[in-house]
Amino acid sequence: MIIRNVRILGGEPVDIRVGNGVITAIDPAGTTSAEGESVDGGGAIALPGLVDLHTHLREPGREDAETVQTGTQSAARGGYTAVHAMANTSPVADTAGVVEQVWRLGREFGHCDVHPVGAVTVGLEGRQLAELGAMADSAARVRVFSDDGKCVDDAVLMRRALEYVKAFDGVVAQHAQEPRLTAGAQMNEGIVSGRLGLTGWPAVAEEAIIARDCLLAAHVGSRLHICHVSTAGSVEIIRWAKSKGWNITAEVTPHHLLLTDDLVEESPVGAYNPIYKVNPPLRTRTDVESLRAALADGTIDIVATDHAPHPVEDKETEWSAAAMGMVGLETALSVVQEAMVETGLLDWAGVAQRMSVVPARIGRLGGHGQPLEVGAPANITLYDPSVRTKVDPSAFASKSRNTPYEGMTLPGAVVATFLRGRPTALEGKLA
Ligand SMILES: [Zn+2]
Repeated sequence: MIIRNVRILGGEPVDIRVGNGVITAIDPAGTTSAEGESVDGGGAIALPGLVDLHTHLREPGREDAETVQTGTQSAARGGYTAVHAMANTSPVADTAGVVEQVWRLGREFGHCDVHPVGAVTVGLEGRQLAELGAMADSAARVRVFSDDGKCVDDAVLMRRALEYVKAFDGVVAQHAQEPRLTAGAQMNEGIVSGRLGLTGWPAVAEEAIIARDCLLAAHVGSRLHICHVSTAGSVEIIRWAKSKGWNITAEVTPHHLLLTDDLVEESPVGAYNPIYKVNPPLRTRTDVESLRAALADGTIDIVATDHAPHPVEDKETEWSAAAMGMVGLETALSVVQEAMVETGLLDWAGVAQRMSVVPARIGRLGGHGQPLEVGAPANITLYDPSVRTKVDPSAFASKSRNTPYEGMTLPGAVVATFLRGRPTALEGKLA
């Protein structure tokens, strides 16, 4: 198979030849002989296949919201070749049995590679450590552990988890939310929440946990990953912790790079629209600017989607009753282009680093996030940054439609995705 006329990281046009799942040759465009099957890249940018460290696939338990099949179809359409499936399923992925079940579903139905995340505590209840070692030794080879959706707020348990994962080079990914400071929280605590009379989710509830966990990780000499950083104060703490040389990584979601909390009060889809309800909440313009700068300078390492599908009945309800979360796999690259590339903060090499290379490294995925060179696995995303498209959720591959970008015009489109040389999306459609 030959992928013709593509620009690796936006460089000169080349033809990429693929065989047995790896890149076998890269030649100047138009110089590759005609034999064999070929795909015309039309001058699209070629990136190493995207890797998401934070996806909710909802299976087992909430197949009405998403399944491994539809979630990975959504991933393929968004340019992803690997996702990490969060553990807050039903049953919770807190044993070797459940993570192997998710891993097998991925092998059978996945349109990208599925790497299960293991829960840190039994049932995500924050009382007793789950069988981290058994999950690491299982067929799923779990390396990322998280109670995401909930915070491991007990400092002793968090310390033990950080110590435990060192034995198999694992990482604890913390959902940083001090639970007592956020009881009943509905949106960012600030001017807007005050005006609307909604219970606030203060920045300090995130920042206090991040500060504590950085200190704990340093104390035990372990790896810590911080999920969905959302405040300017968190950025300052992470910058300080990294300046100490501690082994800490952090992610930001596309929506926290673009959207702000005043959308709850006034937006194209009206006030109090739960499409904007997400955890951690949308913050202020100052926070957004700080997150962008931190992603650009490396303080925040990666973009992770926190793709959180919910059925219509859980979102189209009154604000206080609505579920928290947004789908994100199919719009992530476009939002990153809008927030980071169009603003001059990142080039395509920088995007590849933050959406493929580094997330693969944090998850210890050897077969992903490799530079597009001869001998590398043919995990490739083709992206056309020149088009502008109105977001139409009815066209999503995801089973859920809860996107905050409906009707917005965003730049760029995924042209094709290849997983080990096999197309999983072509011309923007499932292959
Ligand atoms: Zn979370």
